Order: sequence, then structure tokens, then C-alpha cells
Amino acid sequence: MTSVSAALGHWRRWTPALRVETLALFAGLFFTLSSNGLFWRAAFAERDFAGAGDWLFAAGLFVTLTALHFLILLVLCNRWTAKPLLAVILIATAFASYYMASYTVFLDPSMLRNVLRTDVKEAGELFSLGMLPHLVLYGLLPLLLLTRVRVVRDAWRPALLRRALSLVLGVLILGGALVAIFQDMAPLMRNNKEVRYLITPANYLYSLARVLGSDASAATRERQQIGLDATLAPSWQTRKKPTLFVVVVGETARAANWGLSGYARQTTPQLAERDVINFAQVTSCGTNTEVSLPCMFSLQGRRNYDEDKIRGSESLLNVLERAGLRVLWRDNQSGCKGVCTGVETQKLDSAKVPGLCDGERCFDEILTHDLDQVLADRQGNLVIVMHQLGNHGPAYYKRYPEAFRRYTPECETPDLAKCERETVVNAYDNAILYTDHVLAKTIDFLKAKSATYDTAMLYVSDHGESLGENGLYLHGVPYSIAPKVQVEVPMTLWVSPGYAQSFALDTDCLRQRAAQPATHDNLFHSLLGMLDVRTSIYDAGLDVAAQCRR
Ligand SMILES: [Zn+2]
Repeated sequence: MTSVSAALGHWRRWTPALRVETLALFAGLFFTLSSNGLFWRAAFAERDFAGAGDWLFAAGLFVTLTALHFLILLVLCNRWTAKPLLAVILIATAFASYYMASYTVFLDPSMLRNVLRTDVKEAGELFSLGMLPHLVLYGLLPLLLLTRVRVVRDAWRPALLRRALSLVLGVLILGGALVAIFQDMAPLMRNNKEVRYLITPANYLYSLARVLGSDASAATRERQQIGLDATLAPSWQTRKKPTLFVVVVGETARAANWGLSGYARQTTPQLAERDVINFAQVTSCGTNTEVSLPCMFSLQGRRNYDEDKIRGSESLLNVLERAGLRVLWRDNQSGCKGVCTGVETQKLDSAKVPGLCDGERCFDEILTHDLDQVLADRQGNLVIVMHQLGNHGPAYYKRYPEAFRRYTPECETPDLAKCERETVVNAYDNAILYTDHVLAKTIDFLKAKSATYDTAMLYVSDHGESLGENGLYLHGVPYSIAPKVQVEVPMTLWVSPGYAQSFALDTDCLRQRAAQPATHDNLFHSLLGMLDVRTSIYDAGLDVAAQCRR
């Protein structure tokens, strides 16, 4: 007992006095040593450390990372902000390095946007007991040490001088180290520019500044209107029935595990029994929802990708409404990422339908729930967009009801790397089976309505997913270096005979077109084309159905 209280007494009396500069240096060293495992692995991937050159390169990188973080902290911290700010950065960095190591996450601006838009439910699914040791060791322990530090408060004149000298010295050391390793660094950066987004915590601090900056400038700008001349084509005058078109935006479904696209497992048995047209080679605009969702409904697309422009402009849905179609966005996820601004929206993810919802989440069948009421309340032509929860990870096993537990055993923890790969794939495939069911149910509903409506459905996923290939999990790898499984997505079309006739669509021709490659860039113009909307921004070259209208 006495030894414990003696130790506690020592601990209480131990209050080292440090200047902000010293604290920043210690923190910089700590981050270099403890938080950059992925970066070191990428930087040293090609080296065997047999010669002195490799060791010099390692030493140069070590100095570079430490100096970089030293400088960032000097800019952010003063004698008042140093401790609280460092505390936040220590904890955030412990989380960041955990997720980076577990899922190989690059914390670039688009990934950070994803993180910032993550809702409580999504964050909750990412927690696991397995992360506690890492958080204690790399977050809590250094935080405890930090609480003992007393920040020295010099008179302002010497303090200012010391800060200025430290900054100059830091810049000189950083510059010197960069020059020394430039020869070795250049090929690494050229072949794999994205590796800089592994430097932690500089990666997320930089990305945070970028995202906040672009959001602030977007908030002050008016959304750019597009398709001001949009109207319904003259053919609409002769139509006898109203039109009901359903667009289903999938989540994290990848083409490689889509039964209709040739996967060894038949994960789409119900769609296979319906007369659907499957596009087997479709490339997504991004590798995460924050990029893909706005992009796929934008005029710019991947070919002219400009995040600020896309976020600052109206979407396809606004053009359809301007032409005179009613649009409804039904969401079972974390929102439409700006795509449905100005459009009627239903948030269903917190609905309380017994059997479909557990109080936190709902299964995707919530999207087809009450569709009769939706139609009863909205007369006339209607475009419904259903935003699925789909295969949202890492908790795939929570995405489907018991009846779809076909492939077992399933990985039942968010720590995917701790599961047998086979069990991760099983859970993922069960979630695809459930999406197959939801889509088939949607088609059956539309079939049942075809006496009173011309009906059609288009399904497309927002991006793919890694399931342990090369140690990668989840998605969000920077687009330029993303593996195929993260960008190849399923896309499936169903049109009722009535719709095909009314819109003069040749389904055999569409089937042939579906065998050719397509991308998210086709979505905007194909929907304008298939819905017979006239506007000068329509580009027939990007409409997959353009050659298939009689
Ligand atoms: Zn997504």
C-alpha cells in the first residue's frame, strides 16, 4: 500500500516544465515513431537495408517527418492552446493510426469529408473492444504524461524571439532533409503520390483545413443552376399512362461479387429470374460515397471532375424537376450528400417499422415499404430515388435479416482483419443476396403497377469494396491508385414492356449495349434520354440508350 501511495506521490510531484517548442519537438518525435507504420512500410517497400544508402534515406525521412510535425505544431500552438490542442491531436491520431493500420485508410480530403459526415450510428459500428489496447498505448498514456507538463511562460519578447528562431530552424532542417533525400523521394512520390496521405497526423490536419476551406467558400456561393431549358419532349403529349421510374443507388456493392456479372456464387438469384439487363463492366466515379454520389448525378462526372464545381451546382434531379417530373428521394443511409437539395426527401433510416427497424437502423426493405401510399399521395409522373444502406461496412453481417444468412460462418466483428477472409466474404455476399431481394421486390411492385403506370428501374452501386485483397479492407483508397474491386460496380436495368413501348426502347439493343463498358458518367445523360427530357446539356454520346430508341 505504502509503495503505491509513494508512487502516486511521485507522480503528483512530477510536473516537468517545458516550453511550447520543446513540447512540439517531443510530440513530433512521438508521432514519427508511433503513428506512421503504414507510411514507413510504403516508403521502405523496395529496400532491403543492406547498404548505407537505405539507412541514410531512412534517417532523412525520420528528420523530415519530425520537422514537419514540429513546424505544424509550432504554428498551431501557443502557451494557452498547446496542451488542449495536443490532447485532441493525440487522441485523434491514436484513432487515425488504428483505422489506418486496420483498413489501410488514406486520410486525404475526400476521406476526411467521409469521416466528418459519419453519423453516430456509423461511428458506433466502427468501435470494437479490440481497439482498446491501441488507444490506451498511443492515446491515453501520452495524454497522461501531457497532463503533468507545465508550460513555461516567458515574457512575450523572448518568447516571440524563441518562436521565430525555432520556426526558421525547423524550416531549414526540413528543407535540408528534403534536399538530402530528394533523389530517393522523387520516384516514390511520382509512382505513389498518395503516400503523402499516410503521414500522420499531418494528413488529417491538412485535409481538415482543405475541407473546411472548401465548405466555407461553398456556403457563400449560390448553387449554379443547370439545364435551364429542360422540358419534356413532345412524345409526352401522347402518353396514356403516367411514368414511374425508380433509381436505386446501391452502397458498397462491387461487381466482382455480383452474381449476374459472373461471380462464381449466384448472389443475385431473384434478379436472374426477372427479365433484367445487366451492365457487367461499370466503373464508378469515386471510391467513397462523398465523391461518387454527387459525381454520378452531376453534369461534370469523372471526366471533368471538379469537386467544388460539382458541389456548387444543381444535380440531375433538379433538371428532371425543372422539366416537369416529380422527384422523390427516399434515404436509408446518411443522406444524399447535396444531390437532393431542393427535392422532396424522406429520411427512412430512423423509421420504426417492426420487423424492418431495430430502433437504430432499418433494413433496405424500408425503401419499398408504403410505396402504395407514396403513389397515392403523388399523382402524375414520378421519379423515385432509393438510397440504400446496401453493403455498408464493416458490419456487413448487420445488413440483412436472418433469412439471408445463406453463406456461413460470417465475420461478426467490425475488426475485419481479425476474421478469416472467407467469413468476411460470406457476410458480404449475404448482404448482396439481400440487395438482390430488395431489387426484385421493387421490380415486382413496378410490375404490379404497370396497368396504371409505365414503369422502369435502374440500379447502380456508388463504389466497390476491398475484402482483404492485398491486406486492404473497406474502400476510399485514392482514385488514382484504387484497386479494381473498389471502382467496378454493378448496374442493372429493368423496363416494363409498357415503358419500352411508350419510350420506344429496343431492349435487345440495350442488352447488346450492356455488354460494353460504361461508367457513372453515363448516368446523367442516360436518365435524361430514357425519360425523354430535352435540354441543351444532354449529350447523346454518353446516353447508353441513345442508339436503342426507335
Ligand atoms: Zn458509399
